[in-house]
Amino acid sequence: MKKVIIIRYAELFLKGKNRGYFERAFENNLQSALKTFEHEFIKQSGRYIVRDFSEEETETIIEKLKKVFGVHTLSVAYETTSDLEAIFEAAKVLARPEGTFKVESHRGDKKYPLTSIELSREIGARLLDHAKGKLKVDVHAPSFTIRVDIREHGQALVFGEFIEGANGMPVGTAGRGLLLLSGGIDSPVAGHMLAKRGMTIDCLHFHSYPYTNMQAKEKVVDLATILSEYTGGTRLYTVSVTHIQEAIHEKCKPELMITLLRRFMYRIAERHALHISAQCLITGESLGQVASQTIEGVTSSNFVVEKLPVLRPLIGFDKNEIIDRSVKMGAYETSILPFEDCCTVFLPDFPAIRPKLSEIEREEAKLDIEGLIAEAFASIEKIQL
Ligand code: ATP
Ligand code: MG
Repeated sequence: MKKVIIIRYAELFLKGKNRGYFERAFENNLQSALKTFEHEFIKQSGRYIVRDFSEEETETIIEKLKKVFGVHTLSVAYETTSDLEAIFEAAKVLARPEGTFKVESHRGDKKYPLTSIELSREIGARLLDHAKGKLKVDVHAPSFTIRVDIREHGQALVFGEFIEGANGMPVGTAGRGLLLLSGGIDSPVAGHMLAKRGMTIDCLHFHSYPYTNMQAKEKVVDLATILSEYTGGTRLYTVSVTHIQEAIHEKCKPELMITLLRRFMYRIAERHALHISAQCLITGESLGQVASQTIEGVTSSNFVVEKLPVLRPLIGFDKNEIIDRSVKMGAYETSILPFEDCCTVFLPDFPAIRPKLSEIEREEAKLDIEGLIAEAFASIEKIQL
């Protein structure tokens, strides 16, 4: 009796004429999640089986697989022969010591001598007998379920739970996006949402070193690492905007600091995205959340992006909804660490809430835009995660 893991996928993406393409990407992502574990990977009709791994690693492997988009559910199962005694042995291990239960059977091999109902009854009766009164059958609302799947060639899989997977589409099937990754709560969630739709994500972070410290940078590296567990790796690019903030601080109206800095970030991001063949920018903006995220604020930064769409998956979300997702993806604890990213340096007391484009452009005319951008690109660093 051997432990195996059953991987079931969301059916939808495997239909239609792109099936082979989606399937290959999905299999690659599964294999890459499993690459550090010794195992055998088998494709069966409608699902995948992982076997021959070291049983102490079961939980770790499950945690990895739960982060692969496209996985619908997972089960840890016992692989046995299809004779009743062997199935019962596995059922005994899975059964709780007391409570109500039912047995559900499914026959992949229609030549099996018992029908599904007969098989369920037989295993159920043996479990009742074995539990000496501590278990009861309840087919409508059991506290646990034992599931038996009769396979071809005299094999059976016996398991209890369905573990919810990440769902979504396999990463690598929906183009590439460049995520503007700050050290906050929102942007990692925005990246996670588009990765769930199959997009490959690279990250770009702007920092104000030495005004911000190394811990702020480590925090962003940690956030990108958390995201990369869902995307099968990511490239994190960091760019210094210290000199841009200093130039704005010196020459422009303080209330426009954030607006002007944002426009530099978007310009740099678009150029970099085109350079690495990303097809869109992704931000964590949410309408009205802060002064720079009024529709006027969003518009003023949108204006400087000329060729690519800017995707803002959180635009209509409440902060609470974003926090829920952040907790679920495992980023929250890191996001709330108190190290500042660049935007808190040189912050004005009263940022402009509805900046006028004419005024923004007048202030920007005081700056050497191309020179500042070139200097920013000279500071770029790449971290492969
Ligand atoms: P977050 O929680 O993602 O930091 P926020 O609520 O703090 O977002 P803003 O600071 O207004 O909002 O930033 C809006 C978006 O701009 C962020 O979600 C992110 O995509 C991008 N952004 C802001 N600061 C940076 C930065 N230092 N580096 C890269 N992108 C940034
Ligand atoms: Mg922020």
